[in-house]
Amino acid sequence: MNEPIKIAYHLISKKYIHIDNAENGLACNCICKECNERLEAIQGNERINHFRHHSNINCKGSPESALHELGKQILIDNKEISIPKYGKISYSDPIAEKQFKLIRPDVLAKVEGFYILFEIYVTHAIDTEKEQVLIDEKLNSIEIDLRGAEKLKYSEIKRLVLDEISNKRLIFWNNKDETKSVSTNNLKEQETTISTGEMIAKVIIGVFLGIGVIKVWKYLINGKYKKKKYYKKPRNYRFK
Ligand SMILES: [Zn+2]
Repeated sequence: MNEPIKIAYHLISKKYIHIDNAENGLACNCICKECNERLEAIQGNERINHFRHHSNINCKGSPESALHELGKQILIDNKEISIPKYGKISYSDPIAEKQFKLIRPDVLAKVEGFYILFEIYVTHAIDTEKEQVLIDEKLNSIEIDLRGAEKLKYSEIKRLVLDEISNKRLIFWNNKDETKSVSTNNLKEQETTISTGEMIAKVIIGVFLGIGVIKVWKYLINGKYKKKKYYKKPRNYRFK
């Protein structure tokens, strides 16, 4: 027997939804990911709840790619996720399948002003070429393993996406301190490429500073002479 279809495209919200969250029967307003045909929600027992094709009995649906879509939807509908090493983090502005630099992450979001990329693993792990881009570009990125979750209840899939840690892998991650040191390196690079104008300005500032130091130095020397009762003598007394 084919795997029961538990995830379908909801025509009204234009989102992938789970059978657990669907209206019963044809009122579910859902279509199949594979053949686009109308689906009927068969509900009653949580364990066997599923979507059934209205007439196209030969279609097996595509439970894995529908799960991939649902995983993205869960990320988009939420703003907190638990990740290895750092625990629960908040993210904002999640967006699916947006071209970013050289890649198109499953979901792109922001964490404290930095980008974070989510990759969902259902049938294919992230390929080495994409992984190398993430590392080279120093992009905070996480792979979420959802293999086999197409059979699970919605609450369990949601837990795997947002709360479970053991199924997640940091592909690349810069914590704040590391990020700071990256910016410092950038600054150093900028300093080595300063323009001639900046160089002249620096020299002028240096000259003024130098004059200032000499004046302070002279004042201190004079002050000392004053204290040593040479105070009524001419200013250039010491040069005689
Ligand atoms: Zn179908």
